[in-house]
Amino acid sequence: MAKFIFVTGGVTSSLGKGIISASLAKLLQARGLRVTIQKFDPYINVDPGTLNPYEHGECYVTEDGAETDLDLGHYERFLSIFTTQANNVTTGKIYQTVINKEREGAYLGKTVQVVPHITDEIKRRMKLLGNEGYDIVITEIGGTVGDIESLPFIEAVRQLQWELPEEDCLVVHLTLVPYLKAAKELKTKPTQHSVKMMSENGVHPDIIVCRTERPLSPEIRRKIALFCNVKQEAVIEAADAPTIYEVPLAMMREKLDVICLKKMNITKYHEPELMLWKEFLDKLKYPKSKVTVGLIGKYIELQDAYKSILEAFVHAGAINECKVEVVNIHSEFITDDNVDEKMSTLDALLVAPGFGHRGIDGKILAVKYAREKGLPFFGICLGMQMSVIEFARDVLNLRNAHSTEMNPDTPNPVIDLMEDQKKITDKGGTMRLGSYTCEIKPGSLAEKIYGTSLIRERHRHRWEFNNNYLVDFESHGMIASGKNPDSNLVEIVEIPSHPFFIGVQYHPELKSTVENPHPLFVHFISAAKDYSEQKSSVKNPLLQSEMI
Ligand code: GLN
Repeated sequence: MAKFIFVTGGVTSSLGKGIISASLAKLLQARGLRVTIQKFDPYINVDPGTLNPYEHGECYVTEDGAETDLDLGHYERFLSIFTTQANNVTTGKIYQTVINKEREGAYLGKTVQVVPHITDEIKRRMKLLGNEGYDIVITEIGGTVGDIESLPFIEAVRQLQWELPEEDCLVVHLTLVPYLKAAKELKTKPTQHSVKMMSENGVHPDIIVCRTERPLSPEIRRKIALFCNVKQEAVIEAADAPTIYEVPLAMMREKLDVICLKKMNITKYHEPELMLWKEFLDKLKYPKSKVTVGLIGKYIELQDAYKSILEAFVHAGAINECKVEVVNIHSEFITDDNVDEKMSTLDALLVAPGFGHRGIDGKILAVKYAREKGLPFFGICLGMQMSVIEFARDVLNLRNAHSTEMNPDTPNPVIDLMEDQKKITDKGGTMRLGSYTCEIKPGSLAEKIYGTSLIRERHRHRWEFNNNYLVDFESHGMIASGKNPDSNLVEIVEIPSHPFFIGVQYHPELKSTVENPHPLFVHFISAAKDYSEQKSSVKNPLLQSEMI
């Protein structure tokens, strides 16, 4: 039987509940326990698939094709496990299930209410992964305690705390302990208030994790323990860290894992095995070189919109012992006049995924620069589609080639809507989603990168490469080096005459983890390193001849 840890948040959003949950899970996993994490989100959308990245950051897609919250990305990156549909539940999903059951007549004439019907469904879902052979299921509750929307979730936690044996259910509450410059003091009042609010809802936290800019003194810990009714050892300091990947080690120093194990009466565990993790951190902290990579997208001002891509760069940089400086370039502001200037400082270029017309002309200009100048290029999903359009226009001379997503009447639809998408009208959950097999062409760059001929990668798109043009593309130098063996859809394109030019219809960033950096990103950064070295030897021919 699994044990359950709930992670709630107080005072303010963005305290890093996802990272704290993932760090705790990592430590428990490193001690030999089978752990998974799930996220319960209070919003009414059935899933975040229909949310604009401005609203909610990146939409993370699981192997089984669920469109989920970006925190699931952190869980996978930290734990190197696959999450599923079941790991992300929203209020929308809960209500949808209950309302569907009501329509079927399952409630036998009863009045359907938040308590017990909605809370019962929440509890059922909270316990669901407990039947999958895990020792511990961590549940992160989205939102902040005190929000109207989170109340049913908190109520469900209260009921579970009451129903389950005491040692099978634990509540970790994350709060903020702000530093007031004028008073030169850390303030505990917001923490006291948020714990009080939890208690008013009948939930008493067992552990309080305090997000803080300054170290917590023993007095502050004592004060929080006293006012919040927890043992002093259960007051955990979560100081700001230079990278999220430091947080598991910081939590280990604070003994968060040990306290959880003790409270849950778990005795079978070993010392944490974190060798790979520590090796990664060492490489991350002490890089031997640096490259500058341009990330071209239209949500550039948002940190969270390209979360998985940025993290994949961190993983790939570390393994290459190379600092990856990402320059965000807004595709809407790339023009014929400034493209050279904007690209000239880069060692590589990644064109990001996306939807709709905005900013695509800039993306196409950027691809053209990379193709012509031999700058390493990596296109993901829409980025790959833009590389196809650019090649069609400039090399195949199909001047008005386009994607029917942006121009439904284009005479040369080199990117076209997939056949089985044509009848679909609903927007939610209807794209080509989740993991598909891809067969790689022998001798291609993709084969060199993956080192195998059959891969599986995750998708999230409606449009595809139009195979009617494939012969023309291949005879002009852009090849399809990866295809779906069942549907024949083109999944990878590359230009063999270019030092590194690859576009993928899928999202490799979703599968990059600390312990398994994605090979495409690893090779892309390595190509950026080569390009940067070449650039400096051209700039410094003297140095080069002296070295010879
Ligand atoms: N808008 C494109 C499509 O639906 C690309 C999607 C993406 O980049 N994820 O095919």
